Amino acid sequence: MKSQVRAVVIGGGVVGASVLYHLAKIGWTDVMLIEKSELTSGSTWHAAGGMHTFNGEANISRLQKYTIDLYREIEDLSGQSCGLHPNGGLMLAATPGELDSLKLICSRARYLGMETEMISLEEAKRFNPLIDARYFIGALWRADGGHCDPSGTTHAYVAAARKLGASVERFTRVLGLHPRRDGSWDVATDKGAVHAEHVVNCAGLWAREIGHMVGAELPVLAMEHHYLVTEAIPELAGLSREIVNTTDYAGEIYMRQEGRGVLMGVYEPHGKIWSPMRTPDDFSMQLLPDDVERLAPYFEVGFRHFPALGRVGVKKAINGPFTFAPDGNPLVGPLRGLRNFWVACAVMAGFSQGGGIGLVLSRWMAHGDPGQDILSMDVSRFGAFATPKYASLKVPENYARRFRLAYPNEELPAARPVRRSPIYDKLIAAGAVMGANFGLEHALWFAPDGVKRWETPTYRRSEAFPTVKAECRAVRAGVGLYETTNYGKYEVTGRGARGWLDRVFACKIPKPGRLALAPMLNPAGRVVGDLSIACLADDRFMIVGSGFAEEFHMRWFWQANPPADVFVRSQASTLCGVSIAGPKSRELIQLVTRADLSSAAFRLFQVMETSVGFAPAILTRAGFTGELGYEIWTTPDYFATLYDDLWDAGRDLGLAHFGGRALSSLRLEKGYGSFNKDFRPDYTAAETGLDRFIDFSKADFIGRVAALAERESGPKRKFVVMEVADVDAEVVGYESIMKDGKAVGYVTSGAYGHYIDKSLAAGYVPTALANEGETLEIDILGEVRAATVRLEPLYDPRGLRLRG
Ligand SMILES: Cc1cc2nc3c(=O)[nH]c(=O)nc-3n(C[C@H](O)[C@H](O)[C@H](O)COP(=O)(O)OP(=O)(O)OC[C@H]3O[C@@H](n4cnc5c(N)ncnc54)[C@H](O)[C@@H]3O)c2cc1C
Repeated sequence: MKSQVRAVVIGGGVVGASVLYHLAKIGWTDVMLIEKSELTSGSTWHAAGGMHTFNGEANISRLQKYTIDLYREIEDLSGQSCGLHPNGGLMLAATPGELDSLKLICSRARYLGMETEMISLEEAKRFNPLIDARYFIGALWRADGGHCDPSGTTHAYVAAARKLGASVERFTRVLGLHPRRDGSWDVATDKGAVHAEHVVNCAGLWAREIGHMVGAELPVLAMEHHYLVTEAIPELAGLSREIVNTTDYAGEIYMRQEGRGVLMGVYEPHGKIWSPMRTPDDFSMQLLPDDVERLAPYFEVGFRHFPALGRVGVKKAINGPFTFAPDGNPLVGPLRGLRNFWVACAVMAGFSQGGGIGLVLSRWMAHGDPGQDILSMDVSRFGAFATPKYASLKVPENYARRFRLAYPNEELPAARPVRRSPIYDKLIAAGAVMGANFGLEHALWFAPDGVKRWETPTYRRSEAFPTVKAECRAVRAGVGLYETTNYGKYEVTGRGARGWLDRVFACKIPKPGRLALAPMLNPAGRVVGDLSIACLADDRFMIVGSGFAEEFHMRWFWQANPPADVFVRSQASTLCGVSIAGPKSRELIQLVTRADLSSAAFRLFQVMETSVGFAPAILTRAGFTGELGYEIWTTPDYFATLYDDLWDAGRDLGLAHFGGRALSSLRLEKGYGSFNKDFRPDYTAAETGLDRFIDFSKADFIGRVAALAERESGPKRKFVVMEVADVDAEVVGYESIMKDGKAVGYVTSGAYGHYIDKSLAAGYVPTALANEGETLEIDILGEVRAATVRLEPLYDPRGLRLRG
């Protein structure tokens, strides 16, 4: 065994094998995979080997497509067969909601370049004659996908990596991980020590235990999972090709041909966590005792929906464990606070996702950037809130809905509430319907007296539509209050703060008393943050951004090496806020503060520290609604009192609550993009339009070279807002935008513009099509709708109300 390598990959399942291959392929040939037992001996060996491109996140779908396409490459390189059965896939819908979900997948697939089609049930039966069409109302067919041989695939990755120079140590157990001062690691094993620049945790079922070795509590848990393999099915005899792999949404069932029979797996509603406290060290190439009795009612659904299966015997029942993160997507990337330590774990669909994970992780390790937006599998999407208790509730919830896309208005109930702001109970009393963002409860909309706090999960307009409309109108006509505690908040202090911020952000750093919109770029000039910086004193700054990105941004700040005289801390739990917006907002706040708020004294993008009612507060003149507006920030101990003071003062002015849904409508009427939806690391500053906040005269900032180059060449695509010919559904995200029937771009977010009474979509289109009045089409739930580009904000284009 070598004593020194560039990287050690812990774990010889399909994920570790792919990471090893991709590191070798990118040029890191001096890499070693360490496996405590035989390759595949964790969850990999007993997998059903199904592969597909289905994922709620378009970027992950794209990486799944990459994975499936990769198998021919590693077969050629290694000479080892992956046992591919590229049968394609069928997805069956039993309800109108599920059918909408299939149509959305179809619209997304068109731009992603995937061959997908809605088909009739008669056609579906031609692909899989075992379907009883009476239970379904529609079907989607996709060309990609099928199944592979788990062991062959893993060995093909490893053999291909070996050919490129990588080494593999089997039957070698990692016992401890010890960091050196230079950021490298001493990896202690039962066969001696290895010194490695980088370590990757691909330990699958043991990822949690490897995390413990470095003091990290990863939100990952294993679930028991069953599938059955039937005896030969007469209906399959004589078919000229295998049946197409089939997913039954309503039954949470998947099935595929296995020899002359069928393999059928089920994701039952009350799944069982396996080894919740610690994964046994000696579990290797093992299965769990089957519990077919517990699973019987769910398999019976399969026997009804595919009756031929129930007419033959069951040859074997498999129960094996595999791991999940709370939202079902993998955990990938570096962990904050640990140098050169990476994770690639909680991979529940290793044969669909392993290749893509290896690709982005190898780029991240070798080039410092994953090369594309992978926010939805970035380990940083979970913060301190994702405790073992949280994972123990969320993982089974996710397991039970394995094949479902979440409806855009759907809030999942497990592990709720976790983080509550001091006004949570007051908002609930006011009718708030809550969502959760980074574990924190926040109001989506407020049900007036007599209106049910419930809406049907749907892709179309819900019961909340008229209520959200009323909230939007209250803001535009009078004054509204929105709680901003769920934003990401950071404090940067110290003598070196201004200089450091100047390098980290692309904008001009504001002078004391001013606030600036602050794009943050990566070295490739892509947007990793769309924040605001308020300068409270020359050495004290408050930064505000997206709440979901709190850990992501803290990691980014940490990686930007603040010097010894700069202190960066998250204020996620130490600062609470409200936005007061609308033409009467000045009048309202003036009632509770002695500060002069007149338009000459306190202009747009000014900030002051003052008192608002009883509360010592930071008051900014800013907001996201396009109205005259203010944000007020104070500490949690004063926050409920601040709310009471505002509410008492606002009663006569008609102060109304508004929630996140109304905010989405108001911001799109102004054409404002939002980080995570519209602005993500996939897009450059010029594509997003955030380049207008860049200070190109600065000598240096991260991403400057790339942003300057793009300023010369111009962006290839642009972010635009479109007016969509009225439908009964707004766009959700990643639907195809078409010109003359050809997909040219995709949607990033949408909302009904309640004040202007128009359905709005935001997205990216080629620069040549980003013209005022350009007519495009968007496929919304299977209907092609006209979409007209609007370059000017549809509401208050000159910004007079904002500056009022
Ligand atoms: C019944 C069943 C059916 C499935 N069907 C499918 C399917 O159809 N399609 C699909 O894509 N996925 C399927 N899966 C999921 C799939 O198995 C996983 O996504 C995949 O195996 C995850 O691979 P991994 O490499 O992350 O983890 P693992 O396979 O668990 O590999 C981790 C490896 O790390 C090693 N290791 C751990 N600790 C140490 C240590 N200290 N030192 C050295 N080595 C260590 C282990 O020995 C193990 O080999 C199924 C799973 C089950 C249980």
